Amino acid sequence: MLTIDQLSDLKGKRVLVRVDFNVPLKDGEIRDDNRIVQAAPTIKMLISHGARVILLSHLGKIKHKEAPEVVEAQKKKNSLRPVAARLGEILRVPVAFCPDTTGEKAKFFMGVVEPGEVVLMENTRYEKGEEKNDPELAKKWAENIDIFVMDAFGSAHRAHASTYGVPEILKAQGKPVAIGYLVEKEVRNLTRCVEVKDGDRPYIAILGGFKVSDKIKVIDSLLKKCDKILIGGAMAYTFAKALGRTIGKSPCEDDQLEYAKKCFEEANGRILLPLDSIATDAFEGWTQKIVTDDANIPGEMEGMDIGPKTAALFQQEISKAKMVFWNGPMGVFEQKDFAGGTIAVCQAIAKLKSAFTVCGGGDSAAAVKEFGFSDAFSHVSTGGGASLEMIENDGHLPGIDILK
Ligand code: ADP
Ligand code: MG
Repeated sequence: MLTIDQLSDLKGKRVLVRVDFNVPLKDGEIRDDNRIVQAAPTIKMLISHGARVILLSHLGKIKHKEAPEVVEAQKKKNSLRPVAARLGEILRVPVAFCPDTTGEKAKFFMGVVEPGEVVLMENTRYEKGEEKNDPELAKKWAENIDIFVMDAFGSAHRAHASTYGVPEILKAQGKPVAIGYLVEKEVRNLTRCVEVKDGDRPYIAILGGFKVSDKIKVIDSLLKKCDKILIGGAMAYTFAKALGRTIGKSPCEDDQLEYAKKCFEEANGRILLPLDSIATDAFEGWTQKIVTDDANIPGEMEGMDIGPKTAALFQQEISKAKMVFWNGPMGVFEQKDFAGGTIAVCQAIAKLKSAFTVCGGGDSAAAVKEFGFSDAFSHVSTGGGASLEMIENDGHLPGIDILK
């Protein structure tokens, strides 16, 4: 696989860079610009070598099957325009913004970029064909491009037109396709969590968060690689129910119960579940909060965070680790009352002296940042789903494999 440092003669070349500018926006304001900051080194390198830089990214979700006015509203909400302005500030060069993704205007913007200049095209998902990897769409984006650079780690698990179709076409034309600095860094760090060396044991995985059905499949792969898996967050309740405990009104995915039970049994004691929980009478507007005595949650209550016994157990396990991979908060960390479990995990990781520690997951990374532990990790990934899928698929991601 080529890296951008191995590309010779960038001067005047039209370089299409797939970045991941899928940043959280609220009323047009960027709430966290980390993904833009992380993509900047690649863009700076390309402009300093006189490349003509064309950027493609998606932002948010656009459901093309909805009524036209709904689609229009989603497009408006998910415009990359504010990102272009922020990118300009970060790079300290003006960034042109093209309000279209294809068509005459797009061709014009892509055509007039001078060496050392940057244009950001509008959200790739404005196009119906993007998520379907439509070859006609990929052909339009690949037209007149000399080099493709993949620096969107957070999108590398998706074979879309902009992440897969375009490099496939350019490769077939004998044109260079390469990875940028961010993807290079992500792949290097996450590969270490996949190809585990003896010196990195004990290797502990910590799983939590809300997206159980997305994440539960990774447990099979993790069990083959890790020494122990600590499970907190909403996922823990699916396991608890599968083992016959009462979970009250806690979130649970009933169609995953069999799988959870099977995983737990096959793990032979290597999956650790909460010993206790902090539970409330409601998710929002709760009036009662309790710490449960054991792993059972009484009838009308709902688990919101791991309890103190669990936090202590998890801290003790983490203290023995040489390598940690963490995805998913231990509780509803957005509310102060239920942030304790997530903070306890951060603290334990921060205490590790010579361990290799990785955090993946959008909300987990936000929690790490919010609680001031960003520097405590060897690596905080910009890709949530992508980092999990990389582990699940033994180091393979479609958007990266296509560049090989
Ligand atoms: P990540 O983005 O790190 O992959 P997820 O998106 O899967 O993580 O989950 C993050 C969300 O999970 C957070 O918003 C958090 O409030 C929620 N969460 C964690 N524990 C619970 C719980 N016990 N009940 C409800 N939601 C939870
Ligand atoms: Mg999330």
